[in-house]
Amino acid sequence: MDHFQYRDGELCAESVPLARIAAEVGTPFYCYATATLERHYTVFADAFEGLDTLICFAVKANSNIAVLRTLARLGAGADVVSGGELKRALVAGVAPDGIVFSGVGKTRQEMAEALAAGVRQINVESEPELEALGEVARAAGVTAPVAIRVNPDVDARTHAKIATGKSENKFGVAWTRAHEVYARAAAMDGIDIVGIAVHIGSQITDLEPFRDAYVRVRDLVATLRADGHPIESLDVGGGLGIPYGDDPVPSPAEYGTMVRTLLGDVDCRIILEPGRVIAGNAGILVTRVLYMKEGATRHFAIVDAAMNDLLRPALYDAVHAIMPVTEAAGEARLQEMDVVGPICETGDTFASGRPLPPLEADDLLAIRTAGAYCAVMASSYNSRPLVPEVLVNGDAFAVVRETIPVDTLLAHEPLPDWLASPATAGRRAARAAR
Ligand SMILES: *Cc1c(COP(=O)(O)O)cnc(C)c1O
Repeated sequence: MDHFQYRDGELCAESVPLARIAAEVGTPFYCYATATLERHYTVFADAFEGLDTLICFAVKANSNIAVLRTLARLGAGADVVSGGELKRALVAGVAPDGIVFSGVGKTRQEMAEALAAGVRQINVESEPELEALGEVARAAGVTAPVAIRVNPDVDARTHAKIATGKSENKFGVAWTRAHEVYARAAAMDGIDIVGIAVHIGSQITDLEPFRDAYVRVRDLVATLRADGHPIESLDVGGGLGIPYGDDPVPSPAEYGTMVRTLLGDVDCRIILEPGRVIAGNAGILVTRVLYMKEGATRHFAIVDAAMNDLLRPALYDAVHAIMPVTEAAGEARLQEMDVVGPICETGDTFASGRPLPPLEADDLLAIRTAGAYCAVMASSYNSRPLVPEVLVNGDAFAVVRETIPVDTLLAHEPLPDWLASPATAGRRAARAAR
């Protein structure tokens, strides 16, 4: 259930007609529904009722400050993977002791920032990283609270680009080596072991891989405690999948029951890092049809959004539902259409052969399930501006990320002095002067 529904034939975000937002901010734009963010967070949190948990929203899924603050006000912590995300979480009002710093390649600068901020936990993914963190912590005169991310070698059965828990992936240390790595960490000044972490991938639509991974970490907790390590927190990562269309997925309640069954008695605080399941269906991308084009063999709707704005179809072959903002008449005949952007790449395609009602230029379309891993991945490819993000709350809406216009991008491209003049004569003169 989300809060993008037709009212009197007009698609609304909560109570606000999307056409009204489009008229005010232009297209394309991202639109998030506060009610959906709140509902998803609450449903997820309720699934763990009674367990000692900390829910750290995975900021990389949607790092908009207003989105983060909406979740922080409900009690969410943050899982961050860069100094930039750490900054966003703090600005959004997430308490430092609700922040977990993850990632396979933290720089020393980022480690220092995380320690200075006083984050709850830093998840370390290799021995060289552990060494570096120890040095940074000692230099700062503090100890780093550390969990080691283990790689449980399970197949998450998701898209290869977002599977992270197989032994051949770059993530974590092999679970079979945990004993050794923890011993090393325990002997290191500046390092304080607080827990263990695992994250096997994203858009996982089957509970079995989670179960396999959690059984392994449960056994590891026992082994590591027997070795004398204080394992107080067990970070089980994120990854719960969501429906992009009608595909069946486990509910947060089913996931919660599984976590409770497997890990309810490990006597650890359980850290959860959901991203997509909270934000995915809380956002859409609204785009306008520029032209209807009859190709030799296909019908194209050319829209003003492109792969630079929403990369998932091009990157992951993702399928996003698309609906017209003005509801089609009941008797409208569907036609198979390709919904494509203006960029000169065939990959710039939002849908192929998608049955849609008749469209014409200027119609608005909503690309659904665009609240996670969409705006955060946008680029200015083709020198296109970064599009605005809008947050709706009941009958109110606000721009929560302004357009970053091309002029702003150009202002960050200084010319070297030997190219100060556009004239070719300048080049000849420069050569002569050398
Ligand atoms: C990406 C990521 C998450 C969030 O994954 P979702 O599929 O969005 O829930 C959580 N933890 C870590 C370490 C991640 O890299």
